[in-house]
Amino acid sequence: MDLGRYRERAERFCEEIDREHYLHHAGLKRSYEIEPIYERHGELFSRPAVEGLREATARSAGEEDRRVRHLLDFAFQGHLGQAVKAETAALAELEASMEVETDSEPIPYRAVTVALANERDAARREAIEAARNEVLAERLNPLHRTALDRVHELSRELGWASYREACAELRGIDLEALARQAREFVEATDGAYAGVADPELGRAGVRALGELRRSDLPRFFRAPEFDELFPADRLITAFADTLAGLGIDLAGQENVHLDTESRPTKSSRAFCSTPRVPGEVYLVISPVGGRDDYEALFHEGGHVEHYAHVDAALPVEHRRLGDNSVTESFAFLFEHLTEDPLWVEARLGIADPGPVIRHARAVKLVMLRRYAAKLAYELELHDADPRIEAMPARYAELLGDSTRVAWPSQTWLADVDPGFYVACYLRAWTLETAWRRALRESFGERWFESAEAGEWLRRLWRPGQRIDAAELLQEALGEGLDFRVLAGEFVAAPA
Ligand SMILES: [Zn+2]
Repeated sequence: MDLGRYRERAERFCEEIDREHYLHHAGLKRSYEIEPIYERHGELFSRPAVEGLREATARSAGEEDRRVRHLLDFAFQGHLGQAVKAETAALAELEASMEVETDSEPIPYRAVTVALANERDAARREAIEAARNEVLAERLNPLHRTALDRVHELSRELGWASYREACAELRGIDLEALARQAREFVEATDGAYAGVADPELGRAGVRALGELRRSDLPRFFRAPEFDELFPADRLITAFADTLAGLGIDLAGQENVHLDTESRPTKSSRAFCSTPRVPGEVYLVISPVGGRDDYEALFHEGGHVEHYAHVDAALPVEHRRLGDNSVTESFAFLFEHLTEDPLWVEARLGIADPGPVIRHARAVKLVMLRRYAAKLAYELELHDADPRIEAMPARYAELLGDSTRVAWPSQTWLADVDPGFYVACYLRAWTLETAWRRALRESFGERWFESAEAGEWLRRLWRPGQRIDAAELLQEALGEGLDFRVLAGEFVAAPA
């Protein structure tokens, strides 16, 4: 197998896909023509390509092994993606066209979360979610199920015991050890959970843990009471000023394109697109303001700066592939600024940041406990011989126990991201905590106003994702990924 040629083609494919993604979601192009791109580059994801790369990993060692494993992961996920592309396309079409019937206006399927966030009445929220879950179970789940079976089957055909085993091997992540750490995180925060979440749930006008339903969560996360503190017209300035504080001149970054223009079909949520890394990176936003808009922009902005600073001389697999826990950790680092009392005071002039910070902390603990349970669930779902019929109930049980929220079972398939991305988020949250602590220790509580802190970050960004989250942390700070530090953020130290 000609690895040099494979790398070149892989890079061209990524560039074309990401450019199409940018054009469509930025509202510059109505159609979303990814199928022809997949067709043109079909051989990247063919069975011989996957098998050829697998043989190449068996023959390589050290740095070369790392590189080929990233390529194999890319080929394997693409191979599965190709195999279920009909289901994926049908799901997208249905999601874009279906409506959910309620007692008043029908709600577009994809607008349900927004509708839940804006609905003050708990009973109506329950009814909206129940109606959504019904169409989901009836019309989408059969397609999800076909895709899941196909993915499991192909993983076995390609010689792995299960999809779980394939992902763990190709990503180089010990998923069982991670699930153990995540479970310990949940146990460690059990005592603190109600104390952190309940006062905030009460303030948001939703039920307490134990009584809380999943249909209440979008309302709780949305927090409209903070809208005035996070105005739309200061969003981009706040981001640019933050980068300036770190010694990065956003306007002067020739490879970073800030797309703030409003267009009718532009995505309402901020996103980052990377046709060329590091040469052409887009940060796309339609500022509407509010806490979650800031959070989304800073998260995507973290990805943008990470990719924009990657060393152009590195091979494609280090610049574009590898362990996404790394790029997610920098996205979380920037996102976290919007819940840092010193930052919100400095950048937004919020005199009493307490309520904003306490709310953000409660939201984050719900999320972390949800993701810990999601990992445990996905390990069962993608195991060698899953008891598929028992999985919907298992999903509701695991998620419900961990979050203490009545959790419906119908999303047991729709809530699963490909390739155990759940593991990337969990590792990234842990890694981010380590970055933040190191930044504070070296550059002070106001590290976001230090050009040296910016230089320190740039050094971490340069190698892209050549090494994974655990290796990067070991190399940078001489420590391992540790959920106990993350748990410590929610559990008061004993007096
Ligand atoms: Zn992200």
